[in-house]
Formats: sequence, structure tokens, C-alpha cells
Amino acid sequence: MDTSKVLSGKDTAVAVYASFKNRLDILSKRGIIPGLCVILVGDDPASQIYVKTKSKKLQSLGLRSKNIYLNNDVSQNELIQTINGLNQDSNYHGILVQMPLPSHIDSQLIINSIDSTKDVDGFHPENVGWLSIGEPRFIPCTPKGIMKIFKHYNIELIGKDIVVIGRSNIVGRPMSVLVSSNGEWSNGTCTICHSRTKNLEQYTRNADVVISAIGKPNYLKADMIKKGSIIIDVGINRVEAENDKGYKIIGDVDYNSVIDKVSFITPVPGGVGPMTIAMLVENTIEAAEQNIP
Ligand code: NAD
Repeated sequence: MDTSKVLSGKDTAVAVYASFKNRLDILSKRGIIPGLCVILVGDDPASQIYVKTKSKKLQSLGLRSKNIYLNNDVSQNELIQTINGLNQDSNYHGILVQMPLPSHIDSQLIINSIDSTKDVDGFHPENVGWLSIGEPRFIPCTPKGIMKIFKHYNIELIGKDIVVIGRSNIVGRPMSVLVSSNGEWSNGTCTICHSRTKNLEQYTRNADVVISAIGKPNYLKADMIKKGSIIIDVGINRVEAENDKGYKIIGDVDYNSVIDKVSFITPVPGGVGPMTIAMLVENTIEAAEQNIP
């Protein structure tokens, strides 16, 4: 495998975690331990793994971490009351409600009920607004992590044609805002494509950078991209495999098909995923730093 083309989120995360030490020391001298509380509704196994992974990482860095597990049939009011309690709890600077929520709960209403100064996911409409006017407070973790990968590998986006595939509030939409913003590592020209885009290939074939966040295994192939392009693969897709687990995780990009054509690519796993958790830690630290007098 040609590793010179690989943009490793794992390696970027190591550097990013090292950069937290000083910030954590400053907080600790003032008696502040950054704390994150995650609320998980229901017993979805994948969500349980995500929540446990997040909390292990926080604890290993000396941050405060609490997980609240609620039954699948919890009422919307009970969930809002739990959030209200955490909004008042000064031990927790960040609150995250693990998505997706059961269908009887209005997810946007739940996001809106989190104190926007504790919304470390960056999904609260106030934080979405701050990001879109170019004065970000909390930036959603996955797009923020991708921007850090660009910076870590010295990849300038200025003037580049960038195609983001996927328009979710979690990845695609904030990603398109970040790459096209007037910031030091941004200033790209962005096109956002989605499930209703006609002739997607006509966009991806002309792009200098393609960021795929659709959740379709091996969707992006060599004939859909330009030679020398940079490919960021956000997809996490579970497919059957002949191993102990019976499955493996692959991205949206057909890695083996595109590898000879790209100049850089993020692998799955080990690409964007590790950065998402690193940015959750960073956003929690940022939330705690707001408490420095
Ligand atoms: P989503 O389902 O909310 O959004 C998917 C988007 O893809 C939609 O906007 C849809 O219009 C678009 N889309 C679907 N099929 C398409 C097609 N054929 N052509 C063009 N556009 C298409 O998903 P999401 O939450 O944004 O996540 C996307 C993927 O990224 C998933 O695989 C998810 O697991 C993964 N993800 C990874 C991380 C990470 O840390 N690596 C974080 C979040 C999400």
C-alpha cells in the first residue's frame, strides 16, 4: 500500500491530543475539570459502543465523563427534564444526546433544549448560526476533524474546487460552510451534492477535493474522480465479512479502485473517525474554558 498518499486521522489525533495537555493544565490550576455528559436513549448496540468509546477516551485524558442511559420508551418531557438538570450542573460543561432518538421524540426539540453554551456537538440552531456567519462557537466534530486533517498535512484549500456529497446537519452542511469560509485553512469553492443531484459524476470528476458523507459502501469509484484529487471518506458502512465478527467497516469510497488516481485519501477505518472523537474532547475543553474567569 502506498502510505505516502494516506491522510491518517489516527496520527493527526495523536498530535491533537498532545496539544490539549497545556490547556488541561491551565484549567486544572484553576480547579476546573472539563466534563461531558452523554445521554443515550434505548439499547442500540452500535450507539452503546460509541458512547463507551467516547467516555473511555475522556477518562484516559483526565476529563470528567458521565453517561445517562434512558429506556427506549422515555417520554420527551422526561428527556427534556434530564437535559434541564444538566444545563444547571456546573460539573458538566458539555452535553451530548446520542442520535438517533426513537421516533416518538422530536430530535430538533431535544437539541434546542440543550444550553447552547454546552452544545459540544454544535447542532443547536444558535451554534449553527454562529458557524454560518463565520464566528464559530462549537463546530460539529466530524467536519471540524476533517479541517484539522487538512491543516496537519499542510493541505491548503484556497481556490480549490471542493465537492461535498451529503447535506446532513451533522456532516455535509457544516462541512460545506467550513471549506468555503474566509478562514486561514479554507477559501475553497464548494458545491454540495445530495441524493437529488443529477449527474453527480459531472461534479466529482471536476473536483480537486471530494468529501463523501453519504453512507453507501464503495460508492465513489475511480471513473468518478479527477486524477490527482484529494478524497475524504466520511462513510462508515458495516458490510459482511469472513472474519470473527462476521462484518467489517468500509467507507463510501472504493479505496482500491481510486488509490492509483488520488494524490491523498483518508482511509476507513483510521481516517475521519478518530478525529471525530478528538474534536468532541476539544469542544468539551473549549466549553470548560468559557468558565475561566
Ligand atoms: P445522513 O443519512 O443524515 O445523510 C446522508 C446524505 O447523503 C443525505 O444528505 C443524502 O442526500 C446524501 N446521499 C445519500 N445517497 C446519495 C447518493 N447516492 N448520491 C448523493 N448523495 C446521497 O448521514 P450522515 O449522518 O451525514 O452520515 C453520512 C455517513 O457518514 C454515514 O455512513 C455515517 O455513518 C458516516 N459518519 C461518519 C462519521 C465519522 O466520524 N467518520 C461521523 C458522522 C457520520
